[in-house]
Amino acid sequence: MAAKARTDLEVLDQADPLAGFRNEFFLPEGVIYLNGNSLGAMPLAAAERAKRVVEHEWAEGLIGSMNTAGWYTLPSTLGRKIAPIVGAKANEVVLTDATGINLYKVVAAALKMQPDRRVIVMEGSNFPTNNYTVQGLLEQLDKGYTIRFAEADNMLDAIDEDVAAICITHVHYKTGHILDMAAITAKAHAVGAAAVWDLCHSAGAMPVDLNGCNVDFAVACTYKYINGGPGAPALLFAAERHHGKYTQPLTGWYSHAAPFDFERDYRPVADVRQMLTGTQPTASLSTAEIGIDIMLRADMQQIREKSMRMTDLFIELVEQRCGEFGFELVSPRDANLRGSQVSFSNDDGYPIVRALHDRGVICDFRAPANVRFGFAPLYIRYADVWDAVDRLYDILANGTWKEAQYQVRAAVT
Ligand SMILES: *Cc1c(COP(=O)(O)O)cnc(C)c1O
Repeated sequence: MAAKARTDLEVLDQADPLAGFRNEFFLPEGVIYLNGNSLGAMPLAAAERAKRVVEHEWAEGLIGSMNTAGWYTLPSTLGRKIAPIVGAKANEVVLTDATGINLYKVVAAALKMQPDRRVIVMEGSNFPTNNYTVQGLLEQLDKGYTIRFAEADNMLDAIDEDVAAICITHVHYKTGHILDMAAITAKAHAVGAAAVWDLCHSAGAMPVDLNGCNVDFAVACTYKYINGGPGAPALLFAAERHHGKYTQPLTGWYSHAAPFDFERDYRPVADVRQMLTGTQPTASLSTAEIGIDIMLRADMQQIREKSMRMTDLFIELVEQRCGEFGFELVSPRDANLRGSQVSFSNDDGYPIVRALHDRGVICDFRAPANVRFGFAPLYIRYADVWDAVDRLYDILANGTWKEAQYQVRAAVT
């Protein structure tokens, strides 16, 4: 579809079945927030919820809130709620800990299911914390495990009978490229390997069908497209068929069969709570529920359609208006292969991103030369796509990004 004027996009906004969701979020005046893939915007109701958990549940309820406010069971109650967003059953998900910590637990569990094998397949160009986490785990296990790094184009070939498990991210953090979860999982199972998936850039951005793909374990952030809030506890999925049959290394009383019997020895509970360790960041879990509840009211197919359309339009407009300034598309051109983000490479990407921030367009830079724009369909409008490109063009045409203040790298890019 060709967009020739802002009014073309305003028409799409008027017909957008998701348009009403934007009013449920706080978005600073004048800001076009294209970074919901790093930290989702704040749902207005989250502020109320945070106040309630601190001033009422904590201040007045004190320890009693473990029972009366449901604090103790939040990881499972929220897991049950979030499950349909990723194609899981209610009893297969908990919300707990950070994504990386959950990855440590599920990869350890997956590796032990094939005790005679010593290879794990991962995508080398993936968000590096996943590599770091697994490298740390393998070092700790000290059993001669190695990581076989593969990329999208040789992933299936890398999965052979030496492989104990694969640990792959569904949507690539830099390019937005979607990997074929069903095909890769099927290949893993065909050679007897367990399949672990990271859904950080797909959960809440597109339909995900963990059980349809027969996935064994999965993790996902809730603070990106699910709008759970900064550092909100992550999703952990363990397929029901493995319950009671795996082990995980971060055993604690929350995963004990009878935590309040205070037995001397560890005895795991035989359901998904076996993936828990200890007391959770309760205020953070509470605000995460708000983001989940909003997501549950939205139609995932509509989210995906809007996401594909917005990213198509963004690519078209950037290439039309900013192509002469050296913006090269890094993301797949085919929307079916692309998540809810668009990356362009540009040698001056960092100062351009900084200059865009000053013009109210929040996007981010990923080394070495990626400018990354995330489109969260619940609160980004089609007209925002036009306006973002307009401001980008302006910065490029006027050379604003060349100013000295934009050249210095901040700690977080
Ligand atoms: C965002 C992201 C993470 C974040 O992990 P934390 O433990 O929450 O810091 C991990 N993996 C991938 C692929 C991500 O995109």
